Amino acid sequence: MADEQRADYHDRVRRAQAEMARQGVDALAIGVGSDLLYLAGYPSHNSERLTLMIVPKEGEPKIVVPQLEAPRLAPAGVPFAPVAWEETAEPTSIAADIIWETGARSVASGDELWASFLIKMQQHLPEVTWTIAGSIMRELRMCKDAAEVALIREASHRTDEAWIAFTKTTITGLTERQAGERLMGLMRDHGMESVAFCICASGPNSASPHYSTADRVIGAGDAVVFDFGGRYTHYVSDITRTVHIGEPSDEYRNVYAVVLRANEAAFAAVRPGVACQEIDRAARNVITDAGYGDYFIHRVGHGLGLDVHEEPYMVAGNTLPLRVGMVFSDEPGIYIPGQFGVRIEDSVVCTETGGEKLNDAPRELLVMQ
Ligand code: ZN
Ligand code: ZN
Ligand code: ZN
Repeated sequence: MADEQRADYHDRVRRAQAEMARQGVDALAIGVGSDLLYLAGYPSHNSERLTLMIVPKEGEPKIVVPQLEAPRLAPAGVPFAPVAWEETAEPTSIAADIIWETGARSVASGDELWASFLIKMQQHLPEVTWTIAGSIMRELRMCKDAAEVALIREASHRTDEAWIAFTKTTITGLTERQAGERLMGLMRDHGMESVAFCICASGPNSASPHYSTADRVIGAGDAVVFDFGGRYTHYVSDITRTVHIGEPSDEYRNVYAVVLRANEAAFAAVRPGVACQEIDRAARNVITDAGYGDYFIHRVGHGLGLDVHEEPYMVAGNTLPLRVGMVFSDEPGIYIPGQFGVRIEDSVVCTETGGEKLNDAPRELLVMQ
């Protein structure tokens, strides 16, 4: 996807500068992570060597990088020149000098900048006031443009295809880890760059929403929750499906039907202007009315994009109105401790006319062997 590689980073920096002006911030100090990827197209990794993008109030940003990594920027398509620091230099003082020379006295630190770098820069710049860049970056990143939505749609579609292939296999007798490995392999077979995460939670483990997949053997009578996603040109997918091994009980059937109705109710509530908390409420009302309110122990959704969890969050108390281009999960669940859990999750984008599901893998109750 050459087009995506050529996202207009100059334009994104100008939008960041406009938001900085609105919020009274003179400079951004962005460390390694998805903000750096978003603003400069640089997919770097965290290490003890400082990499820092400094965005001044006006003009070109500077990217401070270790000398040995300076040759990586141009081939990655980063349109900003690196400021390389030599191996024996003290990079936080170099970065602090650059910040000072821009005239900045109010600086916002990227949420993912390591404290080990930030605190040293604070010591070099005692006259600077520091805030957190999250409030600026979220204004840029929350609403995806058409190209970003297209990448998340493609990531979601490939993940759906992997799931559909997976459901045609037999998983009885596999450990959770083995079943997860098979699903991750299918994601790679369907062209995902990498697997971001894969939870396989079977039997009573399915009642733990963020369960760590282990060696329990999947067998008859188990509910099995699969929550998984991968990256496609940096953007993530995130889907959950719950299957049952062999004939389910009436209680499982009932719980499954309630969760599916809650998933649909949240989706039906999506349209521009509706507060994020109303999406949560729509799902929660269905589950509470069915008598399972105490067993729905998390918010109904989170934004996704370059990160698996990012703003906006579909949670009680969040009055932020939905806007066109916001992409988020719709993932109600019911978790009955010691017995089983059911979660059904789709990624959704808010359009002018309402929600559009980016996942279309079947949601009906599925019995596997
Ligand atoms: Zn989660
Ligand atoms: Zn998920
Ligand atoms: Zn999720």
